[in-house]
Amino acid sequence: MTEAAARINLLDLDREGMEHFFADNLGEKRFRAHQLMKWIYHQHVTDFGQMTDVGKALRAKLEERCEIVPPPVLFDKPSTDGTHKWLLGMDAGNAIEAVFIPDKGRGTLCVSSQVGCGLNCQFCSTATQGFNRNLSTAEIIGQVWTASKHLGNRTHHQRKLTNVVMMGMGEPLLNFDNVVRAMSLMRDDNGFGLANKRVTLSTAGLVPMIDRLAEESDVSLAVSLHAPNDDLRTELVPLNKKFPIAELMAACARYALRKKRASITFEYTMMKGVNDTPELARELVKLMRKFGNTVQFADAAKVNLIPFNPFAGTRFERSGETEIRAFQKILLDGGVLTMVRRTRGDDIDAACGQLKGQVMDRTRRQAEFQRRLLGEATSHAIA
Ligand code: SAH
Repeated sequence: MTEAAARINLLDLDREGMEHFFADNLGEKRFRAHQLMKWIYHQHVTDFGQMTDVGKALRAKLEERCEIVPPPVLFDKPSTDGTHKWLLGMDAGNAIEAVFIPDKGRGTLCVSSQVGCGLNCQFCSTATQGFNRNLSTAEIIGQVWTASKHLGNRTHHQRKLTNVVMMGMGEPLLNFDNVVRAMSLMRDDNGFGLANKRVTLSTAGLVPMIDRLAEESDVSLAVSLHAPNDDLRTELVPLNKKFPIAELMAACARYALRKKRASITFEYTMMKGVNDTPELARELVKLMRKFGNTVQFADAAKVNLIPFNPFAGTRFERSGETEIRAFQKILLDGGVLTMVRRTRGDDIDAACGQLKGQVMDRTRRQAEFQRRLLGEATSHAIA
């Protein structure tokens, strides 16, 4: 074997990939792949030597050809409210963040999909960092692995980590294959065994990729809406110019119906004097009702109001408690299921939109790469 033959990181493979690798590259039976997955994801073991029910010969082969390497923890930071944030090292001085948020009877991990983000949403602190690159499958599932290990997670009973939301740094639909593969490991019985609906992908609204997600995965969908009309939404979420609200809502309807009437969560970050007026609330009611009429099932749309989380240099402010309640009441009175998200972890900058990790080397070429991806997504839509 030459030195050039790099070891394969088993965290990069989903169940199917593991089965193929074991059969085609190692000449082993499928169940061996499942055995390995259980060691990795149920027992958090990364050392082949500790895998006691794997024969010596296979262990030697694995040691030679593979490795199990999650991203290194640069530091972890517990918050006073039980929230926990990990800063994970990537290559070239980059770092990303994952945040665990415990709540009554459930524990949600917020997972990143890219180093930085290229979408430039005006009120998000990740945007100020620019875009560097997509995370690998290993780097995405490695966040869940790290949190699960730290929490002493058990499978099924007394599980601490019960939900994953792809709401950390980055736009998950711009890193489609790696995100879908990682989400499949989150739901696999030999992986983290989470129920499909407990894994949620949040997108700023890449219409063609929402359709692709409907075909290739089975998870809950959240959409970052933030405004009920195109003028305001384009200002806040520049991607709206490419995929305006009508197209976005149509894609959401296709997703909901394809997923056997799954409801869609619409996220709405509340910013003082920007998108929190009663008029906009009434406009949002109309938009949500129209969506309900299109898909024809109860509670098809859920609205999640997120009080804006400030960060250094932002021009936005959080809406007042009174405005948020008034906005919620208009939605509820209009028959729209609406929750206000409690802000958690803000003492450690771990709240929504406060994740910025450490993004180095934001070259033009990389921004160009992101733009190209967007371009491809568009032509795919037209085709
Ligand atoms: N790119 C994806 C996922 C990351 S953002 C998306 O846009 O959905 C996760 C959620 O946090 C989104 O709804 C986003 O709009 C919201 N968010 C971003 N910045 C925020 C801030 N400063 N305060 C509150 N919520 C914010």
